[in-house]
Amino acid sequence: MVLAAAFTLLVLQPSIIPRKTFSAPESSYRGWEEILSSPQPITIQTYSTGVMLTELSGIMNLAHERAAAIEDVVVEAPVNASIIHHQTLGYYLIDAGLDSSYIDHQYGTFRGLFVEKTLGKGSQEPNTNIASVIKRKNIPLRGVWLTHLHPDHIAGIIDLPKHLPYVAGKGERYINFRFFMRSDHLAGIEALYEIDFTGGIDLPPFGRGIDLLGDGSFWAIESSGHSKGHVMYFINGIEERVLVTGDACNDQFQFDTGIGPGSFSSDLEQAQQVLETIITFKERYPEVSLVFGHDRISIQHE
Ligand SMILES: [Zn+2]
Repeated sequence: MVLAAAFTLLVLQPSIIPRKTFSAPESSYRGWEEILSSPQPITIQTYSTGVMLTELSGIMNLAHERAAAIEDVVVEAPVNASIIHHQTLGYYLIDAGLDSSYIDHQYGTFRGLFVEKTLGKGSQEPNTNIASVIKRKNIPLRGVWLTHLHPDHIAGIIDLPKHLPYVAGKGERYINFRFFMRSDHLAGIEALYEIDFTGGIDLPPFGRGIDLLGDGSFWAIESSGHSKGHVMYFINGIEERVLVTGDACNDQFQFDTGIGPGSFSSDLEQAQQVLETIITFKERYPEVSLVFGHDRISIQHE
């Protein structure tokens, strides 16, 4: 008991951030047909904020029967973040990617005994962190939506304003251990808002969804598996409909093979199921584009 308390105080304390419930506006939508027949003035643009070197088995479950011929090699995974723009409700981010410390340091701001043994090496070209893109484009950001709290998706928060609302899925864990592996990516934010899906609507083949802005333009979709509180986001734009999968589907190769996320996931079986629902969704609604967590993207930095 005393030991546990000492451990919490000494090791976990730096990662305790106040959590609040995100409350979504009332929604009148009941399902995909209604949502898709009412597109809204919202757009998305995705940027690569750098590259992580990682073992393939981290992002792909090589124990899957279809993976027998796939070798566990080190792969380069681009780390993406997206800017969404709603004509009247403003600009938001989905994920923050890598922060600018990755220009000079392969582990970013990570410090601790386990860093070199456990973490992949990252790199970034100057001025390609998402905060630089936002600054260059003079974007008044209103908030940040996170697919999950793994370091490659939140490191970029270091360079972002702290007064914004930061929102993730309920129960999502933040890995930050003093002495062992410490990064403080969330340091300085006032609270982490959590999306509670119990008030959402059923969005088969997925679980529940929340109408984040209240007009059917932008949805959070529950997708626990890769991580406990993983969230996918759906952009219901007039020009295009886009599902941002986060690491529920890392890249096109994962989508094409149907082999689920790997050892970085908290629940392999659930992660496999979520990937299969993404494939089913795309078959059902081929007009929807997919933006994966770590895919090569065609949009580069202007
Ligand atoms: Zn990731």
